[in-house]
Parts: sequence; structure tokens; C-alpha cells
Amino acid sequence: MGIDRARRLTGLHNRGCFLMAPMILAVQHRDQVTEHSQALMTPGLTFDRVGKRYDQTVVLSDVTFTTQPGEFVVLVGPSGCGKSTLLRMVAGLETISEGTIKAGDRVLNDVPPQERGVGMVFQSYALYPHMTVRENLAFPLYVKKASVADQQRAVQEVADILGLGPLLDRYPKQLSGGQRQRVAIGRCLVRKPEIYCFDEPLSNLDAALRAQIRVDIKALQRKLNKTTLYVTHDQVEAMTLADRIVVLNRGVVQQVGTPKDLYTQPANRFVARFIGTPSMSLIRGVVAGGRFSSGALHVAVDLPDGEVVLGVRVEDVLVLSGPGATADAASQAADAFQARVAAVEPVGESGYLHLEVEGLQIESDEARAPGKAGDGSDRLMASVPGHAAFSYCVGDGITLRLRPERCHAFDVSSGRSVRRSAGGQA
Ligand code: ADP
Repeated sequence: MGIDRARRLTGLHNRGCFLMAPMILAVQHRDQVTEHSQALMTPGLTFDRVGKRYDQTVVLSDVTFTTQPGEFVVLVGPSGCGKSTLLRMVAGLETISEGTIKAGDRVLNDVPPQERGVGMVFQSYALYPHMTVRENLAFPLYVKKASVADQQRAVQEVADILGLGPLLDRYPKQLSGGQRQRVAIGRCLVRKPEIYCFDEPLSNLDAALRAQIRVDIKALQRKLNKTTLYVTHDQVEAMTLADRIVVLNRGVVQQVGTPKDLYTQPANRFVARFIGTPSMSLIRGVVAGGRFSSGALHVAVDLPDGEVVLGVRVEDVLVLSGPGATADAASQAADAFQARVAAVEPVGESGYLHLEVEGLQIESDEARAPGKAGDGSDRLMASVPGHAAFSYCVGDGITLRLRPERCHAFDVSSGRSVRRSAGGQA
């Protein structure tokens, strides 16, 4: 079957570049189809002051980071922050306005997409509806004029890796969303790219399937050991998949680090709020003589006197009284404060208490991610064991204390992290 016939069959003649993009990328810069098991080199990627402009609109500025060969790096950030654009610049689907992108020592800026060795998996599966799974998988190799035997061998190998064997003779419409996405990944795999790019591949799937395919993608990446760039707006996906995460906001890199780095040492209040569920509470207050105060809340800090924004994660608000109390009596003396329960969210293993503290100044900001537990709250929150949450009622009075060693501090005007509170931990 030729490209023309395939286009006739699939009706893709005039659908433009988006649907055809995977096919364009199918043409790897390799003349021969070889055993799939043959390991190919995978270069690391270097982004050096990369920028992207559309006329006067700046979409990405000064993006600079490096990935290790074989590393799984997730680009995360709110919708419209430039993640997909950066990915498409790696694949050659967008030009690079400023700076350089390198794969190993090779500058990619002017390399045609088909010669970059980059495979891309899109959110829309872009499968050919009139081809079976087998034909969809084989198509990139057919385009490369691989022998029938090589096509069969490669398809079988990819089908084995992805568990697609029983589905090979089905058409896309006979597959579930998860199975279709697996075929789309398979069609990328069959081309043996040196670098993988995933653009929100799970967004069309329901929550349960997303969790399952997430595990599959992670296992697959470990097995293939290829440098992988993965775009998502979902911080949970980023945290569970990544070796390292690049957090973007408004086209600017906010922080690059391991999931643990981002969770325990956020570089600024944007990252602090964006990473973690529920979001970190930000409290504006004043430090005087090593003690931070905001209304009735007090905590010992190792910070100079002055105004500061304190960041507290839900698990670091200790409940000293009431069901599911987490602290022992010895800790009750220091800096306990009173709160009133304003709302209760029993979400499963943990429950979240929304708390009113007299005079407390909670900061709201832009980094709220819709759908996170507690994100509609402008209140301090504490977690209690899930079963204990059911015992709380709105209006209950409870006693709390913050873990001083786990508090974060941010500059009031720049939002950057300042020295951690007393005994700051890694
Ligand atoms: P994300 O993947 O983070 O949701 P995108 O990379 O798709 O964001 O888009 C980043 C920004 O670039 C958006 O504000 C979008 O409107 C803008 N953008 C994307 N493509 C174009 C284009 N062809 N012309 C002008 N602006 C564009």
C-alpha cells in the first residue's frame, strides 16, 4: 500500500500537517530497518537560552537546562505556558527564534525534522481509521521501504512490548481509548527514535486509565532507556513519571529538579503552590526576634526581622487536639494556636480540615491548579487520617502547631525562596 493509497483510504489528503506530523517524523535518518532490540544511542538534550516569538508575542524566554542521556524529563506548567511549543521545537515542528537546542553535540536548530531522530506521541492518537493496528504500526516502516519480513518482525516486537498482540487485526474504532494510545506509542516505537517526545498523551483518558497507562509509560521508558521529554499540565503525572521536572510559567523556567527537590525545596512561591496536593498554604506575616506571627499563629523561625511569606504544607500542620491528633504531649507547649474548623474534606486515606485562625493573612495567588483538593480554600489546611475526618464538624475548635523545621519562607516582593525556617530540612 502506497502513501497515496493510504491517504485515499484514510481521507487524510488535505488535513494539513497536524495529523500528518507523526508520519513525517516516521522517516528516521536511518537507511535500514534493523532488529528492534538493537540498542541505539540516546543523546542528552541541551537547551541554551532558547526563546520563541510569534511576531511580537514572546512565548518562551531564556529556557536553559540540560537532560542526561536516557533521562525522563517532564515539562509541567499551567495551560498556555509554552510546554508544547518547546517540545515541538525539539521535534522540528516549530522554528527556534533564539538560542540553541542540541542533541548530544549536534545542534538541532537547522536540522530537518525527519533527520532529528525524534519520535513524537500526540494527545490525539492520529491513527489511520481504515488501517488495522498491524497496518498502523507497520506504516512508518513501509514508508521507509523496509522489507515485509522486517516490518513483521518490528511490529511483532512492538506488539509484545506493549501487549498489543491480540489487537493486531482490529481497527482503531474497535479499540478503547487506552488501547488506541498504546498503538500510537507503538507507532512511535517502531521507528526506533533516539529521543521520545510525549505531548499530553493521557489527556483524553479517564482518571483510572490515566493512572494505569502512566505506570506502563514509566516501565516502558525504563526498559527502552531513551531520553524522554514529556509534557503535561498535571503535576501528579509529573511527580510520578519524572526523573526530573522542569516547571514553566508564562514561558519562563521556574525550577528544574527531581520531584523531591521541587516538593521539599521549591525555588519560589509559584512552584510551592503548583507542586503538591493540596497546594501549600502561603501565610503573610512578620518575623520579630526569631518568631513569625500572623494573627494568632506563631512559629519559631531562623529568619531576619521583617515581613515574609511563610509556606506550610498540609501535613506540617500538627493537630494537637481532636480526632486523629498527630502530636505528642511534649510538643504541645511550643507555639500552639487555636483554630476553628470551617470545612471538612474527607477524600480517602486522608481528610483535610479547612481552618479559620484569628487574624491570619493567607496569600492567594495564580498557581492554583484546578481540581486539587482544597484549592478553593483561602484558609490554612491540616490533614488528619481519613477515618478521623468524619468525626469533625464545622465550628469545632481545635489546637494546632506548625512543624518549624518544615516551613518554607518566600520574599514578599520577588516570591523567591529565602532561607528556610529553623532547622530547615532537605
Ligand atoms: P502549553 O502547551 O503550555 O499549553 P503552548 O506551547 O501550546 O502552551 O502555547 C504557548 C503560548 O503560545 C500560548 O499562549 C499560545 O496561545 C501561543 N501560541 C501557540 N502557537 C501560536 C501561534 N502559532 N501564533 C501565536 N501564538 C501561539
